[in-house]
Amino acid sequence: MNLILLGPPGAGKGTQAERLREDFNLPHIATGDMLRAEVREGTELGERAKRYIEAGDLVPDEVIIGMITRRISDGEAADGFLLDGFPRNEQQAHALEDALERLDRRLTAALLIDVPDGEVVRRLSGRRVCVKNPTHIYHVEFDPPKHADVCDQDGARLIQRDDDKETTIRRRLEVYHAHTEPLLAYYDHAGLLRRFDGLRSAEDVHARIRATLATLRLEEKL
Ligand SMILES: [Zn+2]
Repeated sequence: MNLILLGPPGAGKGTQAERLREDFNLPHIATGDMLRAEVREGTELGERAKRYIEAGDLVPDEVIIGMITRRISDGEAADGFLLDGFPRNEQQAHALEDALERLDRRLTAALLIDVPDGEVVRRLSGRRVCVKNPTHIYHVEFDPPKHADVCDQDGARLIQRDDDKETTIRRRLEVYHAHTEPLLAYYDHAGLLRRFDGLRSAEDVHARIRATLATLRLEEKL
């Protein structure tokens, strides 16, 4: 099962990836995390990527594809993988397809966790983080502290990070829609797209993805 995970920021992709890894033993290939790790460890690909990052440029697709290819080729991903963070546009989708073909693999499905913009803003902009310890995270609506803007655990002040400000989130959503809509159309046309309603609970989304994957697996075996 060679899968990609799509959806806007705040859709809960990380949570679902974690659960699917447990269910199906699929390694979660999160390209953003992988890139940061390669740079930190100073690997050859990491050094290449670092030159672009330091120059303020986007890391070229072939560098990312190189990392993904290496990860997919190792034993852990022999039965499949769950790719998260790539592709983000149609051009990258083609590059990925070519790379998989060279490995004699192909995509099984593209899973989209769909969440409307208003809900993304609500989820992300409500986050508050402790100034003393960034692992102390709250949400004004879903997980409020006992006293407004004060951390329950250490009494420190809670702040809204710049990344979680509404204008920043709206900008990210604009970029997401501009590049991802054509990508969705592309996977839909290829018969690979599976949509899930991200407004449902994480448990419900998980159950639905599981059921879809179980069906796909049966079809693969036929
Ligand atoms: Zn705190």
